[in-house]
Amino acid sequence: MVAEDNQNMPSSGTAADSALTNEQWDRVRGRLRAEFGNAAYKSWLQPISLTGVSSGRVSLHVPTRFMREWVMSRYADRIRALWRGEDASISSIHIAISSAGRPAGPRDEIKPPPSEALSGQTIETSPASAPGPIAEADQVQGSEPAFISSLDLRFSFKNFVVGKSNEFAHAAARRVAEATKLTFNPLFIYGGVGLGKTHLMHAIAWHIRSQDPSRRVIYLSAEKFMYQFIRALRFQNTMAFKEQFRSVDVLMIDDVQFIGGKNSTQEEFFHTFNALIDRNRQVVITCDRSPSDLDGMEERLRSRLGWGLVADIHPTDYELRLGILQSKAEQLEGVEVPLRVLEFLAHKITSSVRELEGALNRVVAHATLIGREVTLETTQEILQDVLRAHNRRITIEEIQKRVAAHFNIRLGDMHSARRARNVARPRQVAMYLAKQLTSRSLPEIGRKFGGRDHTTVMHGVKRVEQLRETDAAFAEDIDLLRRMLES
Ligand code: ADP
Ligand code: MG
Repeated sequence: MVAEDNQNMPSSGTAADSALTNEQWDRVRGRLRAEFGNAAYKSWLQPISLTGVSSGRVSLHVPTRFMREWVMSRYADRIRALWRGEDASISSIHIAISSAGRPAGPRDEIKPPPSEALSGQTIETSPASAPGPIAEADQVQGSEPAFISSLDLRFSFKNFVVGKSNEFAHAAARRVAEATKLTFNPLFIYGGVGLGKTHLMHAIAWHIRSQDPSRRVIYLSAEKFMYQFIRALRFQNTMAFKEQFRSVDVLMIDDVQFIGGKNSTQEEFFHTFNALIDRNRQVVITCDRSPSDLDGMEERLRSRLGWGLVADIHPTDYELRLGILQSKAEQLEGVEVPLRVLEFLAHKITSSVRELEGALNRVVAHATLIGREVTLETTQEILQDVLRAHNRRITIEEIQKRVAAHFNIRLGDMHSARRARNVARPRQVAMYLAKQLTSRSLPEIGRKFGGRDHTTVMHGVKRVEQLRETDAAFAEDIDLLRRMLES
């Protein structure tokens, strides 16, 4: 992940710069939070501290070896790319373990941390968490609130619209929720992002709780499960951790793909899972892929996950999308959304239900704010960016803007004659993306870059292709830019 790219700017590193680097770190963290979401941020990114920056190297530290591995494999490249946006001289990220004693073996991560090292790591419920009733329900069941992620009131069976693509998963979820005896165990629901997996899980939990408040239901994301487990290791109270989970009636783990990778969490999950199944307790799992496609998951765990009922959710079709929009529109107060607009959205936004909802919300929010009616025209206007992405018509200007912002150079440098590496490279990246994402010819692209010759464009494209081959971090940077442009 280390990419050496000798830029001409000097690196920061003196004490006088530390205020600046702290500010940069704050901004990088802000972006990470926006990109990876609150849960991942709290579990993995917030505990990272900045040691300093010197000679193009950012030094960070985390409390455990496990966290270090996790952060290295999932987030380090992104941290580096973002940091480079702040300071172009950054070439590498170094992550150390900050425990009191130097870790010598893999189990060192369980050493108690220095006294205050844990501050700011408490699990909090998300902003979407339901107030009153659920907190009460938690208490009634006497369970440890820290283990329970918030349940979202909107995610009930009543609000779930059934169509061809999700009817099987829906029926299975209902059966599990209503069953008085165990039917299938575990219930494994899988499907792409934003198709309603979390919704169904919450719906099961709600239903079970409303039927019988004495049943202990634990719902949490796989990431939270891991985080809690690591915490337990560090506080040396793994017994309590195990008991918490093993004494529940229903355990729901969302997005189990996060437990991939051979490590102690997977092992612990396996034991917990087995213990519950053996005691005839219901387990519900969701995942973004089928059990057999879970790479990095131990074979025995993988096969056991598929023992019960495996139900998949397919991408939505037009009818379901329209149905969902109609149901959401009915719940809106004081805003009338014409059927034409709903049809238009169902037709245009095909990626996920989450995006569909987002589009409707935007249109409605806009109308409410400026006090105008929702019409097809305003909808098209408000959703310009979303629709453009769905039409996949990307312009060279957009590419230039995005790339300039990403590498922190002026837009004018896309057209200028300057040949310094720190502007020439981003310019080549923009040419490369223009070639990839638009149907323009090389001479046309050259003209848009300050009237350059088509051979210059060709050279730029080739150079980026070569770099992509040899520098994984660079390749990821380019892919990210591409995704941002396409989405
Ligand atoms: P996933 O967990 O599969 O990524 P979510 O369950 O978070 O997706 O769903 C994303 C959004 O779409 C949520 O707001 C959810 O309520 C909504 N949604 C998904 N499927 C449906 C459906 N069939 N009916 C109503 N809303 C849905
Ligand atoms: Mg989900």
